[in-house]
Amino acid sequence: MKTVSWNMNIPAREAYDLIVCGGGIAGCAAALCGARLGRRVLLLEKSTLLGGLATIGLVNYFVPMCNHRGRQVCRGMAEEFLRLSIRYGYATLPSEWKNGEPDAPTGAAYQTEYDPWLFAMQLAELLDDAGVTILFDCAAAHPITENGRIAGIVTDSKSGFGFHAAKQVIDATGDGEIAAKAGVPTVDGKNYFSYFPREITLDSCRAAVESGRINRAVRTFAGGSANLYGGGHPEGMPFYVGASAEVTSRYLLDNQRLIVERRRNDPTRAGRELVSVPMMPQFRTIRRIAGDYTLHEDEAYVHFDDSVAAINDFDRADYVYEVPLRCLTRRGFANLTVSGRCASADGYAWDVVRVIPPAILTGQAAAVAACRAMDEGCAVSDVPIRAVQSELERQGAGVHFDDSLVPAAFDRAAMRVSKL
Ligand SMILES: Cc1cc2nc3c(=O)[nH]c(=O)nc-3n(C[C@H](O)[C@H](O)[C@H](O)COP(=O)(O)OP(=O)(O)OC[C@H]3O[C@@H](n4cnc5c(N)ncnc54)[C@H](O)[C@@H]3O)c2cc1C
Repeated sequence: MKTVSWNMNIPAREAYDLIVCGGGIAGCAAALCGARLGRRVLLLEKSTLLGGLATIGLVNYFVPMCNHRGRQVCRGMAEEFLRLSIRYGYATLPSEWKNGEPDAPTGAAYQTEYDPWLFAMQLAELLDDAGVTILFDCAAAHPITENGRIAGIVTDSKSGFGFHAAKQVIDATGDGEIAAKAGVPTVDGKNYFSYFPREITLDSCRAAVESGRINRAVRTFAGGSANLYGGGHPEGMPFYVGASAEVTSRYLLDNQRLIVERRRNDPTRAGRELVSVPMMPQFRTIRRIAGDYTLHEDEAYVHFDDSVAAINDFDRADYVYEVPLRCLTRRGFANLTVSGRCASADGYAWDVVRVIPPAILTGQAAAVAACRAMDEGCAVSDVPIRAVQSELERQGAGVHFDDSLVPAAFDRAAMRVSKL
């Protein structure tokens, strides 16, 4: 490829203990956790609201955080954020879970929808109050690396390029952008058509009035989108692979064109109105790091010595997993940790790890590990894992799943403990 070189002096701005790149749900958890641990934290968000896919991406649904039989699995900040998301807006939380884990088994899952816009603003207030410096409309443009460490992040905003030094960096960009630019090997995912605008219709407004429930007025645009497993992907439409401006633009153009086309051919369109569209690409698994460990789908019920989060499969009852810290690190990149949907997991395990509650928990875990690495003056891959786990437990985050969650039908003799 032909290249050009461009040397320029850029202002060195304020230095931080921890820079979190990306203010999606994972980045919010990481930044909040870092600030609560007393660090000077900078959160860089290229859009104008916090929450990422969970808010501006219109994915305003906490998937089940339980074993689908009344036992809670995802805890810690996942619990805190779920409760925050429904404090003032609407909720679809089953009554069984109103006051925490129910006393008796129930098939009602611990899940809820919420108002994405209100939640985004509540997150901003929470982080601002905790002392996180938030820069909106400011992209983490590039890491500057020196001897296997990231010295800091070059930002790109309306004030031009700037450099912020950092002791630790967390990549929460959703697609491992900073890790990739620092040289961490990455893996691309394949994405189906998914573009879920919201609309109101005369019928939905009537249903809202009749039920007295305002959220019934807004519906997902019935334009059709592929489901998690690719069902419904329009024939002839390409898959979107790779995190480049060209792929993102093709995806946006194709999907927007399809919405217009479907509306053009819709005889009922006079009675419908689009009220919101996703403000970021709804890619599920776009790019992740190839971390020190890659979690696999068949590793349900495996205890990892270095687990930092106990999580459940949102779609299948009983399946519980642990996320090793090694899914968030890559040896040779001493002060870089990732979180959220760019954590190292493959196949369906990537789907299990990337959804909102686990993304929050990996954000929280990444911050605890990064802060501990700061204290020890060691690489994040070498942090004393017991210290990280006990801090997470102190914060109420479950590190290992409870063995009583393993279904009786599962061959317990086959249960493994993965030693470091
Ligand atoms: C179609 C679809 C449906 C889904 N349905 C559900 C569901 O129902 N329930 C559920 O729990 N999960 C669902 N998910 C998954 C879930 O929403 C996401 O995986 C999760 O929210 C990811 O969070 P994150 O913080 O890792 O990443 P993101 O949400 O992608 O956040 C990344 C943030 O970083 C910012 N950013 C990116 N690059 C930069 C940069 N260079 N500088 C500064 N900022 C940057 C972005 O603007 C964004 O705010 C769905 C996902 C999709 C695509």
